[in-house]
Amino acid sequence: MSDITLGIIGSGQLGSLLCQAAKKLNIKTVVFSDDEHGPAQNYSDQFIFGKYDDKDKIKELINKVDVVTYEFENIPIEILKNIDKEIKVLPKPKINQIVQNRKLEKTFVNDIGIKTTDWAFIKSAEDIKKNKKLLPGILKTNTLGYDGHGQFVLDSLDDVKKDWCFTADYILEKKIKLRKEISVIISRFSNHEIYTYEPIENIHKDQILKHSKIPAEITDEIFKEAQDKAKLIAEKLDYIGTMCVEYFIDQNNTLLVNEIAPRVHNSGHLTINAFNISQFENHVRAVCGLNNIIVQKFFNAEMTNILGKEIVEYRSKSYGDFEFFFDYKKKKIKDKRKMGHLTILKK
Ligand code: ADP
Ligand code: MG
Repeated sequence: MSDITLGIIGSGQLGSLLCQAAKKLNIKTVVFSDDEHGPAQNYSDQFIFGKYDDKDKIKELINKVDVVTYEFENIPIEILKNIDKEIKVLPKPKINQIVQNRKLEKTFVNDIGIKTTDWAFIKSAEDIKKNKKLLPGILKTNTLGYDGHGQFVLDSLDDVKKDWCFTADYILEKKIKLRKEISVIISRFSNHEIYTYEPIENIHKDQILKHSKIPAEITDEIFKEAQDKAKLIAEKLDYIGTMCVEYFIDQNNTLLVNEIAPRVHNSGHLTINAFNISQFENHVRAVCGLNNIIVQKFFNAEMTNILGKEIVEYRSKSYGDFEFFFDYKKKKIKDKRKMGHLTILKK
């Protein structure tokens, strides 16, 4: 019986799945969220509802837990840093600061010798003109993007609207003709041991992940390169916990890092059913200072995200022994919102 209590900031499905993994390890959970209806409260031992900058609520969290982690990266960095002064926050706030900012993230990745798409930092329409070699490209808000929010495709300079007011910082990335997208989930422990899951192949629709599968249909070389690069990134960041590296494979079979998620990741949901130890359990183990144990893959698998009103149909279906339906129990159905997922195991 463990006597560790884990604090989790954020109360979406990733939080729910972290709570379920913690329960398996007899680790208690306290979820802190600014969403009154956050579904993770259905799975946590305690729930604190409040604004992320509410000092009293933060104090309450700190008093209740031994270590704090987070299920999304867009948390104001000062808040994580303040909590970290009193109690350990893992992954370290410094890592989150890099990864939640596309400019810092890409600079870090390029500086350790890893390729990304060609990109430039953009503060004005003038900056776009100066970087027109990156067109057709994608303009992305420098911070706070997720599921394709804050992204604009620019085919040519004509698409730069004259009245566009640059209130935020952006980056402009060259648009890649994608052969494939893959991701690597990796867990690094406090003793610095690492477990790297095999690459997962991902299909996005409208910039939102729709399907993930293992094995990814890639060459042995790309398989190894993707795992090696993820390891290098985890080591250079001195990362503790589970993280994900999203990659593009272009038409020349060049592997490019798209982005890093300093947390458990949607593409890794299939690890719950296909492996003895999921990405969630490995994250909880790592941030709570438990050792890694041998990870075994039992099945190949395919995962489908259930978006918006699709959930209604999935709720009324019946499922076979190799099919695992997860309903995130979100209060409101919204268009394109991730409402659940289905994992199908394959021999
Ligand atoms: P988010 O932070 O919303 O996940 P991403 O930068 O990962 O944003 O973009 C979401 C998806 O949009 C990617 O997985 C990919 O399918 C597509 N995309 C993003 N950037 C590019 C690019 N430079 N070239 C081609 N496709 C892209
Ligand atoms: Mg992404």
